[in-house]
Amino acid sequence: MTNNFAKTKILVTLGPSTDTKEKLEAIIDAGADGFRLNFSHSNHAYFEHLFHLINDICVEKSLPIPILIDLQGPKIRIGDLIQPEIEIYSGDTIEITTQNIIGTKEKISTSYLKLIDDSQIGDFILIDDGLIKLVIEEKKDDSLICRILEGGILKPKKGMNLPGMKLSTPSVTEKDLNDLEFALKHRVDFIALSFVREENDIINLRKWLEEKGYKIPLIAKIEKKEAVDNFEKILKASDGIMIARGDLGVEIGVQQVPVIQKKIIRRCNEVGKLVITATQMLESMIQNFVPTRAEVSDIANAVLDGTDVVMLSGETSVGNHPVEAVKVMKQILLTTESEFPEHENISYQIPENIFENMIDASGAAVVKTAEQLKASAIVIFTHFGIKANIVSKFRPEAKLFAISDKFETLNTLNLHWGIKPFFLDKIRDEESAIQNSMNLLKEKNLIKDGDVIIFTAGEPMKDKGRRTWIRCVVV
Ligand code: ATP
Ligand code: MG
Ligand code: MG
Repeated sequence: MTNNFAKTKILVTLGPSTDTKEKLEAIIDAGADGFRLNFSHSNHAYFEHLFHLINDICVEKSLPIPILIDLQGPKIRIGDLIQPEIEIYSGDTIEITTQNIIGTKEKISTSYLKLIDDSQIGDFILIDDGLIKLVIEEKKDDSLICRILEGGILKPKKGMNLPGMKLSTPSVTEKDLNDLEFALKHRVDFIALSFVREENDIINLRKWLEEKGYKIPLIAKIEKKEAVDNFEKILKASDGIMIARGDLGVEIGVQQVPVIQKKIIRRCNEVGKLVITATQMLESMIQNFVPTRAEVSDIANAVLDGTDVVMLSGETSVGNHPVEAVKVMKQILLTTESEFPEHENISYQIPENIFENMIDASGAAVVKTAEQLKASAIVIFTHFGIKANIVSKFRPEAKLFAISDKFETLNTLNLHWGIKPFFLDKIRDEESAIQNSMNLLKEKNLIKDGDVIIFTAGEPMKDKGRRTWIRCVVV
């Protein structure tokens, strides 16, 4: 097991290809670290089923597997169709209506009621991450007449992008709040919001949650030009970032995606916030049993860029080889990390707040100490996960174990770079914390005699004061 640790984490989107207990167990065994439920697809009854399945498995295997729910936000989609696939041809026209109809070759619907107001004649409409391209030729009261520039196969509920269009709708929609109310009856470890445009999108969502007594990490999905322009403020307001490359590529041009990815990852690394690289990482494996070389390189490069998490979407939700896709991804992570264990020098940003800076500095000290002693592991006792995140931020070569008696903390930590979280009941004092965790890790063959281990805690344990300690032990 020891050499089977990838430090980069794998987030797996669930769907019809992965909605049985056997499939979920198989993808966990293959290396999934967390699950994404995409509320753009399926209904509450379906997600209810998935929440229960995940919970059963986590309890049975006592595994801290985080659940990220992904809110659709103001994403514009086409509606349902009379057939699962309808081919439309270049040169023909098609009508897009805001009436609630079942779509045909001639007329399809959209749930975005302000589409007519927000768009203009001459605007392009891209469907299914840009596979189909239309141009608006005429505006009617409740519909648009479009010329098909690039035909293709329409599928139900596929996304529609109008690059550059200023949406007049808020970023958290009625549907999102409804989905949230439902999801919050279950375990939610992360919330991702689609089509974030500015920091207030995140700030307002956080307020809404806080008023209801929830404190859940918020991930801003970067997929609009406005989000790229407002990135620094969004980063400050969020707990993490998802580089949503599918819509981002359509909105700003695919050629921009790699450089934006690198810049976003670097900034997230500098401030120590979670960053997820998403979409089309193994797209060809939706059909095929093996990935393309370009996909393998892309994943390896995301690791070298410094991403915390790589994500699978269609590959695992609707793909033909979900388990194989996770296995392939894991192999790429392990191989890349073993060849390039040391990360590129990151110019870490020092927190302005003195108390934040204190805990940050102590995290840096832990990693420095581990490096000098060639420690094989760093064990972090953490209540809210703050100290563990900070140690992870400095990307140590040693294995990282986080120990907590809070399940929420363990769940969220499992998606952070390098961290393997373990439950340990009521940690009374330093001595017993060290002894008990050492026993636990030995039992699991994660440490062995002769190993140098660094133990640390940065949050109040016995007493209330803010204090931090580091202990070095030879097993
Ligand atoms: P987003 O922009 O939020 O990523 P998406 O439509 O691209 O939304 P993904 O989660 O990336 O959705 O999944 C890729 C495709 O897989 C979807 O477009 C959809 O066709 C299919 N899919 C995903 N989840 C489900 C599901 N639960 N049920 C049915 N189809 C799904
Ligand atoms: Mg998207
Ligand atoms: Mg997607």
